[in-house]
Amino acid sequence: MSPEDQKERYKCFILLGAPGCGKGTQGNILGAIPRFYHFSMGDAFRSMDTRSDIGQEFVKCSRKGELVPDELTIRFFKIQAEARAALSMFKPDIDILILDGIPRSVEQAKLLEEHVDVLQLFHLSCPDREELVTRIRKRAIKSGRMDDANEDVIRNRIRTYEEETKDLVNFYSDRRSDINAAQVPVKVLNDILKVIFEHPEWQGFVGEV
Ligand code: AMP
Repeated sequence: MSPEDQKERYKCFILLGAPGCGKGTQGNILGAIPRFYHFSMGDAFRSMDTRSDIGQEFVKCSRKGELVPDELTIRFFKIQAEARAALSMFKPDIDILILDGIPRSVEQAKLLEEHVDVLQLFHLSCPDREELVTRIRKRAIKSGRMDDANEDVIRNRIRTYEEETKDLVNFYSDRRSDINAAQVPVKVLNDILKVIFEHPEWQGFVGEV
């Protein structure tokens, strides 16, 4: 990759973990801090007009707890990120993306390499799957998300994570931090921030502006 291509790529931290592990909670908190920009792929899909082709595909897949196809997802990510940058919601020269829910497969990670520079992966680990189901059920009451309401769909989403997403832990093993996501949110945040503060690229990036 040439230095010019490298410059074009968005710097990012990735939040990875099973549904219900708290990616969205941590992403929302970090995204409220200046110089971070939270990008939730699930929220981006949910904001789509369900009559559009992408919207239709999302409804079809998420209803079953399955993933939207990789190429479509990355294409949509690029459109969304560029649109937000064009509107100055996200400023790529001074903001670091907090990616939540993307990538979700090794194929997506490979396709994303052209667009993002992954500084660190935070693997939010919660091995107790029943705890995840309980958290998602609670969220369903608050958020009215259709993919959170049905027990079969919840279990399928967790299965999809095991089968298609978890391999990413190995894909990014050279820049991965395992975080205990069974802790209270403020402790999870503390563990993530400690790693970010010590990250040499982040220190350099913030020092420049
Ligand atoms: P989330 O809100 O992150 O749990 O995502 C909700 C649903 O959106 C998932 O169950 C998938 O159907 C779809 N989705 C979100 N992110 C992705 C992704 N990176 N790749 C494919 N499908 C996704």
